[in-house]
Amino acid sequence: MVFAPPAPASVAVSGTFDRFPVRRIFCVGRNYADHAREMGHDPNAEPPFFFTKPADALVPDGSTIPYPPATADFHHEAELVVAIGKSGFMVSEDQAETLIWGYAAGNDLTRRDMQAEAKAARRPWDMAKGFDRSAVVGALRPGPVDKAAMIRCIVDDDVKQEARLSDMIWSVPAVIAHLSRLVELAPGDLIMTGTPAGVGPLSRGQICAVTIDGLGPAKVTIA
Ligand code: MN
Repeated sequence: MVFAPPAPASVAVSGTFDRFPVRRIFCVGRNYADHAREMGHDPNAEPPFFFTKPADALVPDGSTIPYPPATADFHHEAELVVAIGKSGFMVSEDQAETLIWGYAAGNDLTRRDMQAEAKAARRPWDMAKGFDRSAVVGALRPGPVDKAAMIRCIVDDDVKQEARLSDMIWSVPAVIAHLSRLVELAPGDLIMTGTPAGVGPLSRGQICAVTIDGLGPAKVTIA
C-alpha cells in the first residue's frame, strides 16, 4: 500500500454501537408517480432505472454540511434506504426480501440545476447526484418497515414532502429484483428507493429532516 487505505464507509445501527459497513450506494430514479409527473415524465412509461453515489458521500444524521459548490439549486429528496445483508444475483421478487438487512431514512441530495443541464446535454448525472456529502442516511434499523409508513421531508418547520411508502411505483422487492439483474448485489450495498413529490431547494442556515414512521431521522443543517 502506498498510503493507508481510508476507513470503510459505514452507517450507524439504531440502539447499538454497531456499524453497518457500506459497499455501494444505488439510487432509483422516479419511483413515485407524483414526483415523476413533477419532473415532466409519464410514471407508467418505463421500468425502474438506477444511478449511484460513492460510498464516501455518506453523511450521518445530525451533521452540518456546507452548501455544495457549482450549484444555485441544491435540492432535498426524502427517501427510504434499504440495506442489503446477503448476496443476490437475478433474484425473484419473492427471493428479494431475504436479501434485506434493514432500513433507514435518507436524503438523496441533488444539484438540480446541474442535473437539468446533464439531462438536456445527454450527459451523465454523476456530478449532479454523486458529489461529496450527497447521501444522508440515518441510523439503520434491522428488520422490516411498515409498508403504510409515512415518509416526510421537513425543512425548518415546513413539511415539504409527504407520502406513504406504499405509494412507490416499484416496491422494494421489485427494485431489488430489477437491480439484481444488472449487478450482483452484496452485503453492504444500500439502495435509495426514490423520492415523492415536493422536492425543492435548500438554503444556507436551513435544517432539513427526513422522517419515516418507525425509523430514526436523517437530519442535516446546511452551513
Ligand atoms: Mn432520488
